Amino acid sequence: MRASSSDPQPAPQFAGRLRAVTMGRLLTFLGVMVLLAATGGSLVDPAGWSLLVWAGAGYLVCNLVVLVLPARRNVQRVALDASLLVDAVAVGVTLAVTGGPASPLAFLLYAEVVALTLVFGWWTGVRACILLSLSLAWVASTGPPALAEVAELLGDTDLALSHALEPEIRTVLLMLGMWLVAGLVATLSTVTERELRGLIDDLALLRDINHDMDSSQDLAQVSDQIAETLVETFEYERAVVWLPEGDELVAVGGAGLDEAALAELGTRRVASQAYPLRNALRDGAPWPVPRDDPRPGALERMLGKGAPLVLVPMGDEERLVGMITAVVPRRLGRPPRLRHRDVRLLAMLRGEAALVLDNARLHAELRARAVTDALTGLPNHGFFQQRLEEELHRADRRRSRGEHADLSLVLLDLDHFKQINDTYGHPTGDKVLQAVSRTAGKVLRSADVLCRYGGEEFGIILPDTGGRDAKRACERIREALGRLELTADDGRPLDPVTASFGIATLGERPADRAPLVARADEALYAAKRGGRDRIVLARDDSELTGTRG
Ligand code: GH3
Ligand code: MG
Ligand code: MG
Repeated sequence: MRASSSDPQPAPQFAGRLRAVTMGRLLTFLGVMVLLAATGGSLVDPAGWSLLVWAGAGYLVCNLVVLVLPARRNVQRVALDASLLVDAVAVGVTLAVTGGPASPLAFLLYAEVVALTLVFGWWTGVRACILLSLSLAWVASTGPPALAEVAELLGDTDLALSHALEPEIRTVLLMLGMWLVAGLVATLSTVTERELRGLIDDLALLRDINHDMDSSQDLAQVSDQIAETLVETFEYERAVVWLPEGDELVAVGGAGLDEAALAELGTRRVASQAYPLRNALRDGAPWPVPRDDPRPGALERMLGKGAPLVLVPMGDEERLVGMITAVVPRRLGRPPRLRHRDVRLLAMLRGEAALVLDNARLHAELRARAVTDALTGLPNHGFFQQRLEEELHRADRRRSRGEHADLSLVLLDLDHFKQINDTYGHPTGDKVLQAVSRTAGKVLRSADVLCRYGGEEFGIILPDTGGRDAKRACERIREALGRLELTADDGRPLDPVTASFGIATLGERPADRAPLVARADEALYAAKRGGRDRIVLARDDSELTGTRG
């Protein structure tokens, strides 16, 4: 609980509150005056009239002054303190002349305490209670006023009954009631305040999460960020983010993991319909898994054996975006448990993370589409040039470490392809290009990069490959093309497809892209000039490798 007197509220806000309370006081003053007038002054002890008039006038003036004071912090603070005192005096006088502790206006005490506690916090409520208690003590000490007459005049049996109580007891009861009301109001308003503060903290956290996550990065990085948020911001022990792949989930990002689990990121899988993952999916909300509850082995290996988990699905059963799994932390030595706040925060994180993951996926798709040839599905010319540059850099770095690094480049051009288009039409030509792409892709190593260079030309980057091996790779493609049996769109069989290959190998030369491509191009033209359907190594490479197609 924080004392409101130390609460650094901005001065205009504080002044606004004091003005509202003062207006309330003036209205109450007006109401009391009307009440006294309506009862023909019979509520007031005849001896107390002059005191009441003076006190009323003073009260009115003091409150009007408060309304016109400048909104400066210090001035407003002093005004509040002074108004507490003025109010205690005014309430005391009013009670003293209207029946003492048994006055029908005793409710003013409660109204004052409730209003001040609600508006200015528990500390101001306590100060008001102290001053009003002193005031009440003074009222009690002024001697028992003519209660019997007041009760008779009002025909109030309750009030008449209260004669039976000694004024001292009445005073003590009033005081106790006042303190009790102040305590209750302070407790309730503190709970509300704490909840509000919690909500504000949560929103700040969410803003940080939003700020930290960058959906322009790749899926693995974004998944790592989500897991890190759980571990670093929410203080979970370990977290793994899984992404859907068919009917399975693949562990892609993690935080707080041990070496073995880290090494398995990107490969470890679990069926998305396995218990208890399917329950979380069906529920579409954070799903706690108690300690020692059964769970798939993949979850155990990634997050540790028998730990209490929480599963947080992202997206829904229709379209699953991913799943967060995390080990619930042990806080202050208490057994691990999912608190209400955790559930609320995880629900917020879940929505945010799903958005960020979806964006990252979209980015990845767009990036892939920008470098993919639509007809063959192979990487396009732009990708080819970029990848070649990267591979040459890599070779350069290895050489600078004193390691051997080689690379071969193949340019492949289909022979007399124009004739296929001219004879059977473009759709058949397209089919041939697709078949050639598939065939070449199948016979190459996974490290080799086959791209559509343009038209009916293909480029192949063969990392760590000398001229001799590059030539073997080309021969494999040539043979595979020879075995291809293709038919035109109208069903007519096509002649075997042949291609010419030009190979350039890096060897000991500087790792520059343009000369390498130019030499491969030269070799390709040499193959065309030499009669097509053949493989030619660039001129200088034949000396290096001693082979010629
Ligand atoms: P060469 O043996 O000298 O390479 O003869 P070629 O006919 O293969 O070479 P040329 O450069 O004369 O013709 C290439 C043809 O490839 C022309 C063009 O219409 C065709 N072509 C390029 N891209 C595509 C494509 O995406 N689909 C189809 N169907 N044809 C294409
Ligand atoms: Mg061509
Ligand atoms: Mg051609």
